[in-house]
Amino acid sequence: MSDLIRREVAGLPLYDTDSGANAIDLSDNTSLWGAPPAALRVLREMSSAAIARYPSSYSSELQGAIKRYVGLDTASVVVGCGSDDILDSTMRAFGSPGDRIACCSPTFVMIPVFAKLNALELSAVPFMPDGDIDAEELVARRSKITYLCSPNNPTGVAASRAAIEFVVDRAEGVVVLDCAYAEFSSERLDDLVSRSERLIIVRTFSKAFGMAGLRLGYGFGSPKIIDAVARARGPYKVTRVAELAAFTALSESQEWVREHAALAVENRERLTRLLRQLGLVVLSSDANFVFVPTEHARAIHAALRARGVWVRLLSGMPTDLPELAASRGVALRIGVGPWDVMETLITALREALECA
Ligand code: PMP
Repeated sequence: MSDLIRREVAGLPLYDTDSGANAIDLSDNTSLWGAPPAALRVLREMSSAAIARYPSSYSSELQGAIKRYVGLDTASVVVGCGSDDILDSTMRAFGSPGDRIACCSPTFVMIPVFAKLNALELSAVPFMPDGDIDAEELVARRSKITYLCSPNNPTGVAASRAAIEFVVDRAEGVVVLDCAYAEFSSERLDDLVSRSERLIIVRTFSKAFGMAGLRLGYGFGSPKIIDAVARARGPYKVTRVAELAAFTALSESQEWVREHAALAVENRERLTRLLRQLGLVVLSSDANFVFVPTEHARAIHAALRARGVWVRLLSGMPTDLPELAASRGVALRIGVGPWDVMETLITALREALECA
């Protein structure tokens, strides 16, 4: 049996979520404020007939609502089963086996996985010492696909607009700009799609919209790039349940989403100050999580876990950023939530630091 499995698939580990039942889970950057009430209402009211039939093949009504949300009537939109699906479909649409995909490192953990599944060659570009992306080097890699993530997961740092524009204007192939955390950032990048028909911007309902369990993400850009991604994606990838909840959230809950994203930003800044007062190094984040490079990350992670608080431990990261050089490539990524949850985290962290 094993020799029947595709080479690219055989060595891939299953995804380990690293979280526990009954724990305070700050490990996956989802919303600890839950889903918008209007979305929950329509889910409760769904008819049996709606569930019994297939959803629309490409969620056309939702595409229209997304265009209005991002303020780009002329862009085309493709929705998918999480933005993971859009990233994977984009690689499938443009990357033939052996083609190169360039990205910064460290970045979103699924990029190397999807690259491998699509038999692409991953070309990792270190960050600049000041934390910005190395735009010239990314372009110099002359890749079929260049992936950018801003704000970046796991560092939370936003790339400069000038560096992103440099890559969008000069990269040879397709550019994917992953803005999963856009709602928490002061920089709006959506308008960049009018700069190049080879750019796709990818966003999600999993973070600020609090609907990660429904699995819904989207990409937008020129009709040509979106058409190719939609073809690679295939029909019926978004459930009617997810489509309805997202459509309702966009129609009725934008204010709710804005208010909760603003709270996340406020709590992020407050948490950052407190962690720094505890003597920890915290990168300046534009997302709904903070990145804490520390050589004690493993011990702190274990001590937090013992106290029912789950954060993400990252190890083996490249050490080009000076903060990661100092921590020997290990760090914690901590999600931001309501302040009472942050207080529980801080109490556990104070104790954890005493043990570390
Ligand atoms: N992009 C980035 C940068 C992410 O951090 C994540 C989730 N952690 C995703 C994409 C995928 O999100 P989803 O599939 O839930 O939309």
